[in-house]
Amino acid sequence: MKITILTLFPEMFSTLTHSILGKAQERGLIEIRVVNIRDFSKDKNKRCDDYSYGGGAGMIMTPQPIFDAINSVCTDNSHVIYLSPKGTTLNQNKVISLAQNYQDIVLVCGHYEGIDERIIDLCVDEEISIGDYVLTGGEYPAMVLVDAIARYVPNVLGNENATEDESFSTFLLEYPQYTRPEIFMNRGVPEVLLSGNHKEIAKWRENKAIEITKKRRKDLYKKYIKDLSGKKN
Ligand code: SAM
Repeated sequence: MKITILTLFPEMFSTLTHSILGKAQERGLIEIRVVNIRDFSKDKNKRCDDYSYGGGAGMIMTPQPIFDAINSVCTDNSHVIYLSPKGTTLNQNKVISLAQNYQDIVLVCGHYEGIDERIIDLCVDEEISIGDYVLTGGEYPAMVLVDAIARYVPNVLGNENATEDESFSTFLLEYPQYTRPEIFMNRGVPEVLLSGNHKEIAKWRENKAIEITKKRRKDLYKKYIKDLSGKKN
């Protein structure tokens, strides 16, 4: 899996060299390349933003540097995503589908008040939002997307089953997890988890997942019930 990030602030991506993502790159499972859009500016001062036609607060990223940056990294197989609050809201299904369907993803990070619309028309395959709030730039959304996708690249997580039971994988939030010590601040671990009875543990975890989802996320719980009745029919 190759992910290329186009940004005006490449220094922000140094965090991607740490932890699981860092190891995945060292092992050659995922290649992350960060490209500075400013390097492509033909302006004599390397400027990449200008006023908005029609007026309004804030600057807009000019099309030329982004267009040239995209063309310098794209191949016929590239899937170009613009991180934008106006895009489709990211969820686990979207993450899985991106990880399974594309081997070459190009992420375009906007800044200021966004990018010239003609770039979206000419070069962008889809727009993705990481939630209904506005950030100062697409850099953090790009990092969120890279992290979420990388977890579905084969062998990135040590245990291939690690994503199976997680929150959202079956419309249910994850059950509570405990580790050593057995007693912490006078609070013990639920007996069943110490029993070694795998059937009972699985039942307990499923019930807890249902209980938590019903309490915290009625929308997901409804989908779970619908999915369950669909499976029974
Ligand atoms: N004027 C834009 C609007 O109202 O839709 C907001 C621009 S925002 C200040 C600057 C950049 O941050 C955007 O071009 C986009 O790349 C990124 N961004 C901000 N919020 C985002 C979100 N929720 N999801 C994805 N990208 C976001």
